[in-house]
Amino acid sequence: MLTHPDAAASLRAIVADRDDDAEAAQRSDSGRPDPGEPTPSRCPGPGPRASGHAVTVTPGDSSLPLAAPGPTTASPAVTASPGDSRLPLAASRATTPSLAVAAGESSRLAVIAAPPGEPGLPTAVAAGPSVGSPAAAPPAPRKRLELRRAADLAGLPLAPADRARDAEAAASFNVKAPRRYLELIDWADERDPIRRQVIPSAEELVHDPREREDPIGDAAHSPVARLTHRYPDRVLLYPTYQCAVYCRHCFRKESLADDDAATYTIDALEPALAYIAEHPEIREVILTGGDPLILANERLEELRRRIEAIGHVRLLRLHTRIPVVLPERVNPGLVAALKGRLMVCVVTHFNHAREITEATVAAARTLREAGFMLLNQTVLLKGVNDDAEALRTLFRELVYALGIRPYYLHHCDSTRGLSHFRTTIDRGLELMTALRGHISGLCLPHYVLDLPGGDGKIPLGPSYVAARSGFEWTFKTYDARTRDYSEIVTGNPPRDR
Ligand SMILES: *Cc1c(COP(=O)(O)O)cnc(C)c1O
Repeated sequence: MLTHPDAAASLRAIVADRDDDAEAAQRSDSGRPDPGEPTPSRCPGPGPRASGHAVTVTPGDSSLPLAAPGPTTASPAVTASPGDSRLPLAASRATTPSLAVAAGESSRLAVIAAPPGEPGLPTAVAAGPSVGSPAAAPPAPRKRLELRRAADLAGLPLAPADRARDAEAAASFNVKAPRRYLELIDWADERDPIRRQVIPSAEELVHDPREREDPIGDAAHSPVARLTHRYPDRVLLYPTYQCAVYCRHCFRKESLADDDAATYTIDALEPALAYIAEHPEIREVILTGGDPLILANERLEELRRRIEAIGHVRLLRLHTRIPVVLPERVNPGLVAALKGRLMVCVVTHFNHAREITEATVAAARTLREAGFMLLNQTVLLKGVNDDAEALRTLFRELVYALGIRPYYLHHCDSTRGLSHFRTTIDRGLELMTALRGHISGLCLPHYVLDLPGGDGKIPLGPSYVAARSGFEWTFKTYDARTRDYSEIVTGNPPRDR
């Protein structure tokens, strides 16, 4: 998969040149006192909200700007010169059949190489929508990209008009992304799928009154602090409410924070651990948050040991974006911290094939070699991945390049400020129809909707039943033919329905 001979060398360089983001991730929880529990809604308060600026739209308002993928163009192979630390504009998106990337800074960019001559492998899709000419592009930044707080937006190569709008939106929700993830953005393209996931946009200030603060009812099913128990045999446990990246499409926006109440302490988790110990029906503990991998290895090990001491728990699941946005964090120390009595399942969150890089490939390999089960959840996002070819490429490459099985494709939740990301369910079903049969079953996730109010996930597959009468069925095939089928069984057919 990694076609360039320099790949190994540059990977070593990545490991050697310890990312300060990774160090920050290691440090972030170290020994800070916990000043108290989150409020009963387990919402420590994400800081200033922009409700004063909120625009209210009425149902059916179609005036929101769509960001459907625009025309695409095939990019030529990239050849970046060694040591060139400028942000390569069009370079980061090139994924031609033979990707050539020279050693150095730029070699850390996307490296999915399409098998030579594979017809469907979408140079342009992996490359994403491409609009605007290089001449219209803002100048390349001179300093290192950094996005730890809203003020850092000033240092990014955004157009001035964008910057003003984005800054306003930034006030409504945390802003943060690791440098290497920012490096994947093509700044010339306002609709870059990675940019849309991390750079605040004024569209976030559009609040539909039907949207919710707790869109999937996590708080309603929270018997003790930092735990959600909705399904009988598994619980969500929130060791921290901090993340390495604040996704613009986050469905838990309102409960995430960068303040102290959001940090990990084992004391804050004692009630949740006691609850798990008292409920023998719980077999699976799902660490989510926040991002559990932002915790230092010692913290994770402490938590893992506490959970595995509860005899009826069988599996430890971690829902994390860190293998995508900060893959260098996935190191042997992390593996050692998680390995123990329990089966371990790591659920990543890739939304676009452009997020698959040498470093993410290496991180996935480390986790696979540890013997962990690897799954991925994707959120269906308008203007990021609501495109059949983009999803096919993503789901294929998750399996073929990373060995990660696509698990869920989530319909975008009813969280406040996400209307610009939300597709219709019909569109989601259409996309699923375009996937099934066309890509390996190994690559096919379940399309699910999380019901508002906490009633759980609803699988939303398109139906392949065209008609039925008793034991006589008519099915639709994946390639849109219809075929009759008679059940060969004894007994009376069920009444028609
Ligand atoms: C999604 C979710 C789970 C996990 O569900 P799976 O279908 O097992 O992945 C567990 N608890 C809650 C509250 C959830 O929202």
